Amino acid sequence: MRDVKVNLELIQEKVAEACERSNRNPEDVHIVAVTKYVSVERAAEALEAGIHNLGENRDDGLLAKWEVLEDKPTWHFIGTLQSRKVRAIVDKVEYIHSLDRMSLASEINKRADKPVKCFVQVNVSGEESKHGLEPENTIEFIKQLEPYENVQVVGLMTMAPYIDDQEALRTYFRRLRNLKEEIEALGLKNAPCHELSMGMSNDYQIAIEEGATYIRIGSALVGE
Ligand SMILES: *Cc1c(COP(=O)(O)O)cnc(C)c1O
Repeated sequence: MRDVKVNLELIQEKVAEACERSNRNPEDVHIVAVTKYVSVERAAEALEAGIHNLGENRDDGLLAKWEVLEDKPTWHFIGTLQSRKVRAIVDKVEYIHSLDRMSLASEINKRADKPVKCFVQVNVSGEESKHGLEPENTIEFIKQLEPYENVQVVGLMTMAPYIDDQEALRTYFRRLRNLKEEIEALGLKNAPCHELSMGMSNDYQIAIEEGATYIRIGSALVGE
């Protein structure tokens, strides 16, 4: 396996290029290293390479790595989250990228002892296999989160389908950005909604060109 540091430098170069093409500041693009496929040693290597944000998509994976790394990284929960797993992880993560239903918001609100930064997950491609809210239901959903003081909507998240069609990918990312801007403009107290969590190993450059502020990279960074 290649050093994380080598992969990171390559990715940072591509991030810089995408930022240049879209007239953005690379400092506004945060790399989340998705460590779900790899060992805790490899995750530790990512930290040593200078990455602060680690993402896991399962509660057991997160807890196993937490045992060793504790709060050294900033933890991101990026996968489907069952309500009954919230209690175990909620005080260990800074971000939850997969808020997609009211019952989950209610559980986060109940179990957290301080506000949790949440991304509302939106299914912009309409693929049936993808989790997330329909775009047209997202604003109403976010408005209904208002009573939950421990749920702070920092942005929107999406997973694009695994396709090669760059223009289709661009359309999906742009759809998420437009929705984000619409929500931002509402000025809701519980939903500043400035961030966009989108882009993975195969599509992060397009996501950046369309406004991503958090890219979630697994295989291209730490390996599969
Ligand atoms: C696995 C995963 C990623 C990273 O995928 P790669 O293609 O390996 O970069 C990003 N986001 C989510 C939600 C994931 O589950």
